[in-house]
Amino acid sequence: METVEDVTRMHLVGGNLALDFINTRTGPPSGPSDDDVLTGYPELVAWGAYAGALSEAEATALLRLSRNDPDGARAAFSRAMGTRDYLDEVFRPLATGGTPSTPALARLRDDEADALGHAQLESGSTFAWVWRDDHTLARPLRPVVHAAVQLLTTGALDRIKGCGGCRFIFSDESKNRSRRWCSMDDCGTTEKMRRYVAARRSRATR
Ligand SMILES: [Zn+2]
Repeated sequence: METVEDVTRMHLVGGNLALDFINTRTGPPSGPSDDDVLTGYPELVAWGAYAGALSEAEATALLRLSRNDPDGARAAFSRAMGTRDYLDEVFRPLATGGTPSTPALARLRDDEADALGHAQLESGSTFAWVWRDDHTLARPLRPVVHAAVQLLTTGALDRIKGCGGCRFIFSDESKNRSRRWCSMDDCGTTEKMRRYVAARRSRATR
């Protein structure tokens, strides 16, 4: 059983909020995932605060809201899992040179329209969408959905890659586009260890 603490021990390696949201499901590079850090609405909120989608004050207010409306929180969590599924269907094909499915893109369009309907434009160095006044249980997903659209419309799609050792997806921001692992501490180290053991074995049998 994952706990809220597990959510905040994850490595955020996607380089984009939507990719990090997809990466809350873990497992081997292909086939079904074998673990999920998001097990309920409180974990979704904890992840949102950890990943920078929510302020601590917003997270606290959402947890209070969810305790007062458990049915609403369950429905919001179920919708969030559906969002993660279709985001996966958008970005996983892009990581392997494929094309996202049309229904997945249509769902993203609808959710982005809903997200912007709950946002305000706030001035800074440029104007930005903010969801400060959105006090609905869907609030954690707003910036995730918007980050997905931003990446699709303004990002370098050929930088989107899947890790060689697990199912994580990331945007490769390295200069020579040579990144192969979600993180050198995890899959990169595992791969180095595997090569080291293989090399020793082949030396021993020579
Ligand atoms: Zn990995």
